[in-house]
Amino acid sequence: MEFKSINQLKSLLEENKISVKEIAETYIRKINEKKDLNIFIYFDEDKINEQVKEIEKLPNNKKLKGIPIAVKDLFCTKKMPTTAGSKILENFHPTYESFVTQKLINEGSMFVGKTNLDEFAMGSATNTSYFGNTINPLSKKGVPLAPGGSSGGSAAAVAADLCLGSTGTDTGGSIRQPASFCGVVGIKPTYGLCSRWGIAAFASSLDQAGVFSKNVKDASILLEAIAGHDERDSTSSKVEIPNYSQNLNPDLNGKIIGIPKEYTLDGISDEINMVWENAINSLEKKGAKIKNISLAHTKYALPTYYIIAPAEASSNLARYDGVKYGFRSKDVNSLDEMYELTRSEGFGKEVKRRILIGTYVLSAGYYDAYYLKAQKVRKLIANDFIETFKECDFILTPTAPSAAFPLNEKQDDPIKMYLNDVFTVPASLAGIPGISIPYGKDKNGLPLGIQLLGKHFNEQEIINAAFALEKDYE
Ligand code: GLN
Repeated sequence: MEFKSINQLKSLLEENKISVKEIAETYIRKINEKKDLNIFIYFDEDKINEQVKEIEKLPNNKKLKGIPIAVKDLFCTKKMPTTAGSKILENFHPTYESFVTQKLINEGSMFVGKTNLDEFAMGSATNTSYFGNTINPLSKKGVPLAPGGSSGGSAAAVAADLCLGSTGTDTGGSIRQPASFCGVVGIKPTYGLCSRWGIAAFASSLDQAGVFSKNVKDASILLEAIAGHDERDSTSSKVEIPNYSQNLNPDLNGKIIGIPKEYTLDGISDEINMVWENAINSLEKKGAKIKNISLAHTKYALPTYYIIAPAEASSNLARYDGVKYGFRSKDVNSLDEMYELTRSEGFGKEVKRRILIGTYVLSAGYYDAYYLKAQKVRKLIANDFIETFKECDFILTPTAPSAAFPLNEKQDDPIKMYLNDVFTVPASLAGIPGISIPYGKDKNGLPLGIQLLGKHFNEQEIINAAFALEKDYE
């Protein structure tokens, strides 16, 4: 049994054709059947059954009553442990609920488990997790593929039909790239739309929560559930949250779509360019006008990101020292040794690399040359978008430079791995919203995503355009 959308399952529930208990049983069975994909770090049947009783009591007007949702294991949850994919938080039981997950609980959703991710969300293949790789459910026999990352478990959970929606976080592409690799919809909202409170911090000026779903309408339903102001996050915006799902409108007549010339790379496959072309043609047919644009500083986005993100990470991760919570190394002889061994044993290779890079670019002699310079370039990248949006309504680009790659590929070459983010980091640095939807396939039948970027807090515009494009594949 496969449910196609949130509204379909909601109607069945309201018409008493299915009970909350039956939904729980269905998804417990599905998850058990796909255990070898290693999608969940935490999954406990009893925890799902406990929620059934609570959800049954809720009125039917709760927007997500009984809807199975998977939660990236970076969001603190009171009733389930939270690891951030790291040994250092292996036995961490938060005493509070993140803003985003609390909003989902308030609307009646059923958490099926906590999904696997790259350690502290650092990665593009869900292979830096202390809890092992997640396997992309679209893998063909014999060649396990990466689901993308860092929210690879959440994207894979939707693709494998183990939930109807999931939460993710996107610092440099961690929602959009795995959405593209797994053939699902993923939206990264404007920085500040969803509170970061209760999400383990990676790079605070970039981290944004968002969602994965099977279709654009479901993404809009989930987004309106998790967005909103929160005084516990000083960067949380006070903008009014539109009713995205009710305002869905595929009419693109007269819209101007920017096509940036910088979003193509040497060596990028013809298939990706073809998918991009097809989407451009489709938008034109739907009445939109195409405008060729230039985002001149795009080429500096990747190096800029890989200075700013590690810098902030090195500061954010200083709190994991074995003193108050989390893993602590045993058999130590001094306080210094306790710190040293705890952090050496508790963090994986990629996290340590980022801490080292971050500490380096923030250190006295290099601060101006790296960190300060990167901040200036970040501003130029953001300005490019602001100027461009004076002339167009949204921007269309490919989401990622490749389809899902084999699990063991790029593993030993961080630079190759970082290149995954080339089309997603500019929007992250600018803080603008982006959505990735599946649009076509490569020669091996693997999905390829396209990305729509919009003005700050204009999620509706890109959701509508994605909604229109999605219809090409219905
Ligand atoms: N792949 C990028 C990185 O490793 C982005 C990660 C993210 O968005 N959390 O930093």
